[in-house]
Amino acid sequence: AGALYVVATPIGNLDDISARAVATLKMVDLIAAEDTRHSARLLAHLGVRAPLLSLHDHNERARAEQLGERIARGERVALISDAGTPLISDPGYRLVNWLRERGLAVIPLPGACALITALSAAGLPTDRFRFEGFLPAKRGARRAALEALRRERATLAFYESPHRIEETLEDLAEAFGERRVVLARELTKRFETFLDGDALGLLARMREDPDQARGEFVVMVEGAAEQTGESGEVDGEALLAALAESG
Ligand code: SAM
Repeated sequence: AGALYVVATPIGNLDDISARAVATLKMVDLIAAEDTRHSARLLAHLGVRAPLLSLHDHNERARAEQLGERIARGERVALISDAGTPLISDPGYRLVNWLRERGLAVIPLPGACALITALSAAGLPTDRFRFEGFLPAKRGARRAALEALRRERATLAFYESPHRIEETLEDLAEAFGERRVVLARELTKRFETFLDGDALGLLARMREDPDQARGEFVVMVEGAAEQTGESGEVDGEALLAALAESG
């Protein structure tokens, strides 16, 4: 019967692909990939020969229906992204939703995900975390987004590109002061590095050693402390809520 297999691929180290993922990619009729040229290299390395079709942010609406109809007719399709788990800051949501709404099979194959990999080794609390994907590219919007997260108790996690990492550290310093920040860089790759410190300290290290600003990052920030807002200020909203409750 037709199905969509959502297949996680490596985020750097090619050995991180699962045996089940390889077997599935070899079995399917078609592979939908974010960037077919990029994925062709991985698939050649794995000895996979299925035809490739692109599915990216700009054609997903149309493609979701096209692929969905093929799956409805009985084809087996795999979805992969450039790295890691599809749909996690990557395309695929529309397609998966299209299939789910029609009761068609969607089968996940778990594997690498930069977010989970970073959290698993950062040394920040992981009982609760809040993943915010990519922060807005424009500075004003980015600052507003960080400001809105100041009271969040859970560990915060973001994806970031090397172009903006220094600006983001400046904005993190503004919003979170001396809170602990962990940068996970180039996970599973040759120059994998974890940097730990407050935002300004990390910025200073990056300016000293520009190599530290290269590659791909997961940015994690310690959650807000329990009792008060940041810097000891009274949490007005919480106070009003408590008064309302007691009255
Ligand atoms: N779907 C992917 C996943 O499961 O992790 C994420 C795709 S998103 C478009 C790309 C972002 O993921 C990068 O900008 C970076 O923040 C993060 N990322 C991907 N690979 C990474 C790696 N090896 N080390 C650190 N961060 C990585």
